[in-house]
Parts: sequence; structure tokens; C-alpha cells
Amino acid sequence: MKKVSIIGGGIIGLCSAYYLAKEGHEVVVFDKSDMTDGCSYGNAGMIVPSHIIPLAQPGMMAQGIKWMFDSQSPFYVQPRLNVDLLKWGWQFYKSATPQHVEKSMPALCDLSLLSKELYQDLANESASFFYEEKGLLMLYKTDKTAEEIYHEGKLAEGLGLEVDFLSKEQVAKLETGTKTNVIGGVHYKSDAHLYPQRFMQFIKAELERFDVKIYSNTYVNDFIFRGNTIAGISTDKGVFTTDEVVLATGSWSPELAKKLKISISLLPGKGYSFTLKDQIHKPSIPSILCEGKVAVTPMNTDIRFGGTMEITSTKDTKINQNRLKGIVNTINNFYPDLNITMPKKEDTWFGFRPCTPSGMPVIKKDSRTSNLILATGHAMMGLSLAPATGKIVAELIAGKPTSVDTTMFQ
Ligand SMILES: Cc1cc2nc3c(=O)[nH]c(=O)nc-3n(C[C@H](O)[C@H](O)[C@H](O)COP(=O)(O)OP(=O)(O)OC[C@H]3O[C@@H](n4cnc5c(N)ncnc54)[C@H](O)[C@@H]3O)c2cc1C
Repeated sequence: MKKVSIIGGGIIGLCSAYYLAKEGHEVVVFDKSDMTDGCSYGNAGMIVPSHIIPLAQPGMMAQGIKWMFDSQSPFYVQPRLNVDLLKWGWQFYKSATPQHVEKSMPALCDLSLLSKELYQDLANESASFFYEEKGLLMLYKTDKTAEEIYHEGKLAEGLGLEVDFLSKEQVAKLETGTKTNVIGGVHYKSDAHLYPQRFMQFIKAELERFDVKIYSNTYVNDFIFRGNTIAGISTDKGVFTTDEVVLATGSWSPELAKKLKISISLLPGKGYSFTLKDQIHKPSIPSILCEGKVAVTPMNTDIRFGGTMEITSTKDTKINQNRLKGIVNTINNFYPDLNITMPKKEDTWFGFRPCTPSGMPVIKKDSRTSNLILATGHAMMGLSLAPATGKIVAELIAGKPTSVDTTMFQ
């Protein structure tokens, strides 16, 4: 059994730790934060086998440029003269092809379905994180969006997912929690959801049970090499020896990758959410309000709304009130009886999604360093894909064949 050091205690790092510890490895997790907040905590909690189309898709570049001139739009690239951004933009442009989408779809679908199975296993162990299988409703208000969503639904059906195409009356029959103002919807029965903060608490308790050592508030700043092997991890609390290393540092991955002499093209996609506690009157089915790209998730007695994707830097911690207003307006347009008001600054959460230009996560053994696994870049699907990623990380370390084909995650 090996000593495995995981850098990053977000959902990807912790799920990796879980499957490695289950295999009997001695696992250590390092995180620079106190591990009570961050991208893996305030997200929309959706487990989405339905999301088979990566962000890099035909038409996205033109749409993104249009949105850049709308202060309330759901997508924004902060324009700046920066080599990483230019490189990322060029790679995104090159990836946004029908061929890339075609190859990505089955890979994402397989990874997602594996993750959902693993979530089912975890939910059988504990009800504490409110895992539910109510599917996902894609709601829309315009014929143009209806056409796009219908097309995506048909592609998902082609991959074997169960999809219902609903009229506005059928949407009203399914969504009994509140009135909807839409022209129709698509219901992906494959999807599920959970309460992210509760899941993070659950997985941390499991790690404790397996004697995983967690060093929070510990910043990893460098590596000690012996030939092409990482022999030690240098932190602000001292140096730790290791047999294997897993890099799961989300949006901060490029910084540490540089220390490992590898380049990872990845930028943070900032998004916001706010949660209304103990709501009786609320939507009952997790939904995406398509034109505004707002995610709506009932979580036990609470309801969470999330949205926007601002491609920016991890230093940008400002809450953009205009974009938050865009989220609130979208909610009120789709759910006319909710009367949501602007959340206070202190009640607004933000997180950085780790976005690769191809829209695909990176889950692989590094080709040059003998004992390094990369597990990052899960963008909008990190919660959804975390257990499967963790299982694959454990399989890569054991040198076993992986449960799903990882060619697209290189
Ligand atoms: C508004 C919003 C809604 C979302 N909704 C969903 C959803 O419904 N479903 C879904 O699947 N995904 C969703 N996501 C995406 C999901 O939250 C992310 O993909 C996921 O949290 C990424 O997890 P991670 O572990 O890779 O990164 P993180 O959670 O960011 O963890 C990385 C960790 O690495 C640590 N770290 C970084 N550098 C160092 C260092 N040098 N030393 C030590 N520690 C370090 C950080 O402190 C951090 O804790 C959403 C995201 C947002 C913003």
C-alpha cells in the first residue's frame, strides 16, 4: 500500500481520497483553506448525466461575444491582455467543433452515469446529504431555445438516457411547487441532486473513519524531486514525504502545475448562488431556466439559485451586482409567483469553476513525472463527476484498467 498525497480538499480531492482509502492506501489531504467553503460547497448540487455537450461547442464563440456586451448576461469573459487568456481562448475556439462535441458526448455520459451509480451507493449509506432522483427540467420561453433544447434532448436519448419532451401544460402538471411561465420543457429523468455542503460533511466524516489525515490551512508551494519522481511536498507547515501525488487543486491548478513543469490550460469561471432557507413555496423539481442559464435546486427544505459564468482570475472576488440582478430577473420571469428580491451581499456566495478550453476534465497519469495524477478541470460538472473521478484516480494509482474510457480526459 502506498502513501498518497492529495493536494486540494474540494470535492474532487475528497472523493479521490475516499476511493484510495477504501483500497487501503495511507492518504493525506492538503488544502490551503479551512475547508468549509469554496466551489464544492455553494454550487447547485446537480448530478447531470444529461449534460453531455461540453461548453466548447459550435456557436458558443459568437454567443459569448454577444453576451459580453450585456451586463446581465449569464456568460462573460473579462477582457484583458493576458497570455493565459489568449491561449485559452484560442484553444476554446479550436475545440468548438461538431467533431469535438461528437467525441465528448459518450465520454461525458459514461463518466456521469458511473458517478451517479456511485452516488447511489453513497446515498444508501447515509441520507444526510439529501440525495434525490427527481430528474432535471430544462425550461424555456422562446421557440429558438425550444429547438436547441429539443435537439440536445434527442442526442441524449440517442445515448440511452430517458427524456420526456413536455408542453407547457405538462410542465405545470410536473412542477407543482410553484407556477411556471414557460412555453415548454424537457425532463431528463436520469438526473439527480443533493445538498453540497451536507455531502462535503458526509465525505469528510467518512475520511475520518478511514483515518485519512487532513491538513487544512496548509498551503502547498513546491515539490521535491528525485529524478522524475516527486519525493516530497513542500508546504508552509513543512515538507512531507510521499509515494504518489494527486493534483486536485481546481481553479488554482495552473499555478502548482508550473512548479511541476507542466502546463495546464485552465481558467476560473466565476459563478454565484444564493440559498433561501426553509421555504414552503418553492419549485419542487431541479431546473435550468434556459434563456438565463440559471440553475434552481430544491435542497431539503431550502432552495438554491445559481448562475453566471465569468471567465476571470482567482483574484477577482467581486460580486457583480448586475449579473446577480440578471439571475434574480430570470427567476421572476420564469416563476411569476416567487417574487424573489436581490440577495444581500453577505448572503451571496461565489465560486470558481475550473474550466478547461475543451470543456473536458483532465483525469490522467502525468506522462513525465512517474508518480503524479492530475484530476482537475471539471468546470460546471465537478460535483456531478466527483465520485467517478475519485474511483478512476484510485484505479490509475493501482495500475488497473479504468472503469470508463479516459481517452477524452487526457
Ligand atoms: C454557481 C455554481 C454552480 C455549480 N453547480 C454545479 C452543479 O449543479 N453540479 C456540478 O456538478 N457542478 C456544479 N458546479 C461546479 C462545481 O462546483 C465544481 O466543478 C467543483 O466544485 C470543482 O471541484 P474541485 O475539487 O475541482 O475544486 P475546488 O472545490 O475549488 O477545490 C480545490 C481546492 O484546492 C485547494 N488548493 C488550491 N491550491 C492549493 C495549494 N497550493 N495548496 C493547498 N490547497 C490548494 C483550494 O483551497 C480548494 O479547496 C457549480 C459551480 C458554481 C460556481
